Amino acid sequence: MQVKDVYDSSNMYLKPELNYQMMSTIETYHCAFSTHVYHSQAILYSDHIHHSKNLFGCSNIKNKEFCILNKQYTEAEFNELVPQIIKHMQKTGEWGQFFPAHLSPHAYNESVAYDYFPLTKADVENKGWAWYEANEKAAYQGPTIELPDHINSVTDQVTEQILTCEKSNKLFKIIPQELKFYRSMGIPIPRLAPDQRAIDRMQLRNERKLYDRKCSNCQSTIQSTYAPDREEKVVCEHCYLKNIY
Ligand SMILES: [Zn+2]
Repeated sequence: MQVKDVYDSSNMYLKPELNYQMMSTIETYHCAFSTHVYHSQAILYSDHIHHSKNLFGCSNIKNKEFCILNKQYTEAEFNELVPQIIKHMQKTGEWGQFFPAHLSPHAYNESVAYDYFPLTKADVENKGWAWYEANEKAAYQGPTIELPDHINSVTDQVTEQILTCEKSNKLFKIIPQELKFYRSMGIPIPRLAPDQRAIDRMQLRNERKLYDRKCSNCQSTIQSTYAPDREEKVVCEHCYLKNIY
């Protein structure tokens, strides 16, 4: 809202101005490479900052100025140290990039990045990023629930039980509203955890890549997420509109 001179940022509210690679902010001015920053200015490489100014590499700070790695400095010290740190980060190639993925508290395959750019476990681990493997079944001491095939055989008790995903071994529950829905639609209780169902749905989508191919009707060159070797007929916008209107 009321954004001015902001680039490569997301989830920003209340007049962000002069911001670069920022995420989840309220009223930030002249900030970069930081996340969860509120009513603050001149914040670099920091996380969870409230009502502060001139911070570098800080976390969970309120009403402070001239701090580096959460340590208080004088204005003169701060202005001398920060350019030195930036110079060092330029040498290592870290400067100008958002926090690296290996610092993320979330594993790659738990993140939205995985939905759009799916990688294998080996690819992810080669990059030094975290991969989440559910091992909840091994830790779970409770009974294994056998789900009936037909929704009519399911009792209300199912909402009290802990179910295990057949594919990922993640534990999950059915809530009463959900059970009511399945009953009204006459469909069985899912045997896969919600996350797994989301992953399976994403795999039905085309990959996020545009291919050059020919319109199946007029042979003009078009771009499509359907690869040229797929059997579907893909037509250009002109042919499509001519056909349906
Ligand atoms: Zn065409």
